Amino acid sequence: MNGPALSAAAQRGRDPSEVIADALKRFPGKIALVSSFGAESAVLLHMVSRLDPSLPVLFLDTGQLFAQTLDYRRALADRLGLTGVRDLRPTFADLSVTDPQGGLWRTDTDACCHVRKVAPLDRALGDFDAWITGRKRFHGGARLRLPEEEQVEGKVKFNPLAGWTKVELGAYAAEHDLPPHPLTPYGYTSVGCWPCTQPVEAGEDARAGRWSGLDKTECGIHTTKPASGPSVDLGDGL
Ligand code: SF4
Repeated sequence: MNGPALSAAAQRGRDPSEVIADALKRFPGKIALVSSFGAESAVLLHMVSRLDPSLPVLFLDTGQLFAQTLDYRRALADRLGLTGVRDLRPTFADLSVTDPQGGLWRTDTDACCHVRKVAPLDRALGDFDAWITGRKRFHGGARLRLPEEEQVEGKVKFNPLAGWTKVELGAYAAEHDLPPHPLTPYGYTSVGCWPCTQPVEAGEDARAGRWSGLDKTECGIHTTKPASGPSVDLGDGL
C-alpha cells in the first residue's frame, strides 16, 4: 500500500550543511567528499570547507579533463583552504592494457569511464566507509528519486544537495562570492572530460551535453554493480 505523499518540506529534506555535519560526526576519519570541481561543485566544497577543511576530497583526474578544470581545481582548493584534496588517476598498468593511445572514448565510453573513473575511485574508497556526493534531483533521469542518504555496496552515500534547485545553487554561490568554473559562461552547465562534454542550448537539461548523442547518461561511479561483471551505471559532474 502506498504511504501518504511526501510534503514539500520532506522532499526538500534537511539543510545540506546539517546533513554534512551529521555525516562527519557519524563517520569520523572514514568519510570523503567526491568532487569533479565542475560547474556546480563550488557550493558543496564551500559547505565542507566551513565544517572541516581537511576532509579528504577525492578528485578524479582522468587524464582527459579540460585544462580549465585542472586550473579551477587548484584555484578553488586554495581559495577555500581545502587541504585534503587527492588527485586520483588511472594506473599506468591499466592504461597500457586498455587505452594505450588514449582514444578508447571513441569506441567504448563505458570501458573508458571504467578505467579512468570507476577503478581509481573504487581503489580510493577502500579507505572509507562513507562518501558525500554533489548529485541533485533536478539533474533528472535516475537522479529524480535521489535520497538524501543511501546504502550502496556496503558504504553510506550522502547526497546533501539532493533537494536543491539550480536557483538555490546560484543564490548560495552569489551570497558567498564563489568563483564559477571557467567554462560555465560558454554554455557548459555540466563539465566532465573534454571528449565527452558539449555546451548546452538554453532550455536543455543541465547534463544534456554529457555523452551527447550516446545512450549514456552516467559514468558508472554512481551505479550499483551487478553480482558479476563490470559496473554499469545508476554523478556532480561525474
Ligand atoms: S567521460 Fe569520456 S573521456 Fe572521460 S572517462 Fe568517460 S568515456 Fe573516457
